[in-house]
Amino acid sequence: MIPVIGYKGQKVAVLGLGRSGLATAAALTAGGAEPLLWDDAPEARAKAEAAGHTCTDLNRASALDGVSALITSPGIPHLYPHPNKIIARAMELGIPVDNDIGLFFRSYATDDWDGFETAPRVICVTGSNGKSTTTALIHHILEEAGRPTQMGGNIGVGVLNLDPAQDGEVVVLELSSYQTDLARCLTPDIAIFTNLSPDHLDRHNGMGGYFAAKRRLFAEGGPDRAIIGVDEVEGRYLANQMSEGPNDDRVIRISSGQKLDNFGWTVFARKGFLSEWRRGKQTASLDLREVKGLPGAHNHQNACCAYAACRTLGLAPKQIEAALHSFAGLPHRSQLVGERAGVRYINDSKATNVDSAAKALQAFPKIRWIAGGLGKEGGIAGLLPFIGSVQKAYLIGHSARDFALELGETPHQICETMDRALTAAAAEAQAGEVVLLAPAAASFDQYPNFEKRGEDFTARVKALLEA
Ligand code: ADP
Repeated sequence: MIPVIGYKGQKVAVLGLGRSGLATAAALTAGGAEPLLWDDAPEARAKAEAAGHTCTDLNRASALDGVSALITSPGIPHLYPHPNKIIARAMELGIPVDNDIGLFFRSYATDDWDGFETAPRVICVTGSNGKSTTTALIHHILEEAGRPTQMGGNIGVGVLNLDPAQDGEVVVLELSSYQTDLARCLTPDIAIFTNLSPDHLDRHNGMGGYFAAKRRLFAEGGPDRAIIGVDEVEGRYLANQMSEGPNDDRVIRISSGQKLDNFGWTVFARKGFLSEWRRGKQTASLDLREVKGLPGAHNHQNACCAYAACRTLGLAPKQIEAALHSFAGLPHRSQLVGERAGVRYINDSKATNVDSAAKALQAFPKIRWIAGGLGKEGGIAGLLPFIGSVQKAYLIGHSARDFALELGETPHQICETMDRALTAAAAEAQAGEVVLLAPAAASFDQYPNFEKRGEDFTARVKALLEA
């Protein structure tokens, strides 16, 4: 745990008692503060009380009297579509509103660092897609290279549950737009922006607010290195803002598809090869085609971001290449779960929106596609340019019929359930094809979350392959 610095003897309100809220309460207590805990959901309060905490109703008129700060959880709206009442009240009273990420950055560096040979460093990864994969990949490469490293934030453990820094350690944090929007202190050494596509627009009042939330990671903290995906105009704008000119190598531009040979430092992937260029000269090339844990151009983008981050830490291309090959991939993200008779079974249950499903559909040449669930606004119209690889779609869940209408001439079958979809797809798949779960829809109509949906698919594939 990282004890929170700066609130000794002071009251600090904590709103939201999920994983990060409870970790925040413990870290505040360890730093000598007095946390006042609340969650509007009775179940969350009951859990906190069962874990030995006392709750204080922060809705009461005087509840925020004498409170130094309000720390909130990422799931609670602080601005759009409407601020939570307690947050709105704190703002009226002028009480600083912050989150665990802000507390982490003000508390991570301590006097112990004076005795360290190498200062610890923090890498933060943001962007619409690929954050978790990139974060886990950097952590994996550093572990393989024998560097002390921890990973957390929006993946694995909450930031305040990380261990205090060790000499030479590298902390890798995944940060969502909700987290970067609110943190009052954001000072990464290396900041990564993978890509941008519309998501969570209600919480940011549109695309401009969403991008601005992510941009804070770069604008607030002034990282030593900014690693930026430039395949969208927002990434190009951000890279432009962060650099003094095209040769400024504090910015490393990343692309999946474009050749970038005119800048101070770039890393890009094309046709399955990763290239690193510095000042107009190619300095390394890696073959990504046989890297099993990172299939598809979207994962090659993640590989480029992770490669660039590790290069800034002094790792050699060969060292990084070896670690890419031993990366197993994350569950539910283009994850290979089985193979039989030349047919591969891929679980991309995390492809809950059109953009991530489009990437999955482009990653494989011949696809038996299991899709559907709770469809999102706009349906799958945005996917139609990418369904050339689909041999047949097997549709499940609430949106099965809507998806069928949009698919038109593309062969499809309404299967309703995962069981029926997988059985039909497996029976019809030919050698060289992929049975891909990439739903392009949320899971909540049939499952508690996308993880459970992916686990169901995986268990059924395993049973099928063992039969
Ligand atoms: P995040 O943490 O940003 O949600 P993940 O690594 O968990 O990202 O991947 C989320 C979804 O997006 C998965 O379906 C995955 O296959 C897909 N994906 C992964 N990397 C990228 C990328 N660079 N661009 C687009 N989609 C991606």
